[in-house]
Amino acid sequence: MTRSSGVLLFTFAAVAALTGGTTTGTGNAGAAYPTALRSGAPVGRRYYCSRSEGERQLRNLAANSDTEDAWIFLETCSLWVDVGEKETPSSVTIDMSFLTSLLGGARQEGVRLSLFHIHPRSVLAKDRIYPPAANDIYCLVNLKHILREKCNAQVTAYVLDGEGVWNYDVTEQFESSFFRSEHDWRTSLSASELMRQRYADFMMDYCTLVEPATLHAAPSREERIDACIQRIRALGVSVSYIPQ
Ligand SMILES: [Zn+2]
Repeated sequence: MTRSSGVLLFTFAAVAALTGGTTTGTGNAGAAYPTALRSGAPVGRRYYCSRSEGERQLRNLAANSDTEDAWIFLETCSLWVDVGEKETPSSVTIDMSFLTSLLGGARQEGVRLSLFHIHPRSVLAKDRIYPPAANDIYCLVNLKHILREKCNAQVTAYVLDGEGVWNYDVTEQFESSFFRSEHDWRTSLSASELMRQRYADFMMDYCTLVEPATLHAAPSREERIDACIQRIRALGVSVSYIPQ
């Protein structure tokens, strides 16, 4: 993955763009926002708290929320922003147009952000595990591609399942396999057809390889998690899990 060298810092202008306010002097632009994250809030709701405090709150939400939801965390201004809409117990949609307009103001400096979403333990089956789903990985592929192109942004992704945190990522090679921009004369498929085919192939691979490991492929939860990790990695996706 292409990474900018050195530490990325926001200018005051960029902080103002992200916090939705104006900054003068050394004042803290995010301090006016609430500090308690909640699920089901509208896209764009901002919260001001540290990464560790926000992650602590998300662990609670993952254990107790009725629905999924998604947030980004911007390290340089300790800002959490709700980016999830259409929240249901088993899905959430990321508002990409909001995200690109939010981050567009910081394009020149570049921005690194963490994307979090929750798989709510209280409404999901107790006898299986919930790693990053095939659609989560596909969403990350699209999100990384779009945010890098439009906003000069680098993304790391996490999902909390109420008992721990999954960290997952895709390589540029994996990403580019979805975004081959040229017509493939050997198969006579257009770029959009190739992308649909790659998506369908990936969903099928995930369904046949990973899904069974989330159920009863191994006797203990830890063994099922290990099996899932090995199988997701075999698809070209890096993944790890930290129990809470
Ligand atoms: Zn998910």
